[in-house]
Amino acid sequence: MDSISRRDALLAGAVGSIAAVSAFQAQAQTLPSPSRGPGHGGTDVGPRDPARDLENPDMLNPPATDSGTLPNLKFSFSDAHVRQESGGWTRQITERELGISKSIAGVNMRLNAGGVRELHWHKEAEWSYMLYGSARITAVDANGNSFVEDVGVGDLWYFPSGIPHSIQGLGPDGCEFLLVFDSGSFDEDSTFLLGDWFKHVPPEVLGKNFGLPASVFGHTPDPKELYIFPLPIPTGTDEIKGASPVPDSFKYRLLAQTPQVMPGGSVRIVDSGTFKASKTIAAALVELEPGAMRELHWHPNTDEWQYYLEGEGRMGVFASSGQARTFDYRAGDVGYVPFAMGHYIENTGTTPLRFLEMFKSSYFADVSLNQWLALTPRELVTGHLRLDADFMAALKRAKSPVVL
Ligand code: MN
Ligand code: MN
Repeated sequence: MDSISRRDALLAGAVGSIAAVSAFQAQAQTLPSPSRGPGHGGTDVGPRDPARDLENPDMLNPPATDSGTLPNLKFSFSDAHVRQESGGWTRQITERELGISKSIAGVNMRLNAGGVRELHWHKEAEWSYMLYGSARITAVDANGNSFVEDVGVGDLWYFPSGIPHSIQGLGPDGCEFLLVFDSGSFDEDSTFLLGDWFKHVPPEVLGKNFGLPASVFGHTPDPKELYIFPLPIPTGTDEIKGASPVPDSFKYRLLAQTPQVMPGGSVRIVDSGTFKASKTIAAALVELEPGAMRELHWHPNTDEWQYYLEGEGRMGVFASSGQARTFDYRAGDVGYVPFAMGHYIENTGTTPLRFLEMFKSSYFADVSLNQWLALTPRELVTGHLRLDADFMAALKRAKSPVVL
C-alpha cells in the first residue's frame, strides 16, 4: 500500500467506525518507527499522530547525516487560523506562526465570485501568485497613475509598499491566491482600510475634504463588514477613462514565460529584471518530476521562503557548525531556508512536485555546489574531498538552478 492510501486508511480509522478501527489497528503495524535499525532509536508505542508521522518520515526517522538543532523550517496553512468573512476567507503564516521567517510573510486567500478584498494599503510590498480562478485587481500610484487588470491562474501581481489597491473575485467561482509580503511581521489584521478610516474621521472633516455637507457622511458600514465582502461580479473592462497607466505594470504572466527545461523538470525565474515593478521580491517556480532533485545550492543574497503548490518532497538544510536537518513538505506547506544555508529539494512522491521559491530581493541569485567545484582548480578540490578522477570528470559547470 502506498503512503497516500495508508494515510487515508488511518484517517478513516480516526473517524471511528468499528471496521475502520480494525483497519486502523492493522495499518498501525505498518507505521514507520523512529529507528534506522538496531542500535539506532526504537519503536514508538504511542501516543502518536499516525497521519502526521506518515507525512513527516524524515522527522521521525531522519537521515543519519542530520545533526544538531535547527529552528523549525516548516509551517502548514492547515495549521493556520482561518478568518471567515461574508465574501471569502483568509489565513496567514507570519513570523508569529513560523518564528524564523523574519524577511517574508504569506497569506492564502479565497474570494468568492464577486467577493472583494476591501480597498486598502499597507507598509509592506505585496507580491501574489494566482492559484485558482480569476480576479480583477486595481491600484493607483503616488503620481496618480491608474492600474486595473484581470489576472488568472499563474499570473503574478506586485503592489509597492504604501500603494492602495483592491482585489475582486470574478466569475464563475471567484479565486484563490497566495500573497507574499516583504516583512515577516506583516499582519492581515493591521492593514489600512478605506472603511476603517472613514469611520474614524469626523463627518464635518470628511465634508470639508470632499466639498459636501457633513450630513452625507457617518453611514459607512462597520469596518468588520467590509474586510472581505460580496459585491456583484463586475461587468465590462472597468477602464478608468482618461487616466494614465502606471509606467511599469503591476501584473506579470509567469506561466506565459518559457521555462528553462532540464531532464528533472523545469524552472521559471522572475525578478525586477523581467517583472520591472517587482523591486523587493524575486521568485522561482520549480517543477520536479518524481525522483528528481533541485541540486545542492545556496543563495548569496537573502533567506528563501517557499510555498508548495502540489506533490510531496523533502528538503535537507545545512546550517554550518555541523548542523543539518531534513523536513518533509506537501501542497499547502510553507518552507524556509535562512540566509546562505546550503540545501537541496527532492521529489519523494509519485507525482510532480511544484513549488515557489521567494526572496526579499530585487534579483534572483544562487550558487551551485557543482558549478563551484567544477570551476575550482582540481588539486584543490581533490585535496579537500579525496575523491578520484571520476568525481572530477563528473563535475558540471552548469549555472544553478539545475534540476536533476
Ligand atoms: Mn494588500
Ligand atoms: Mn534554494
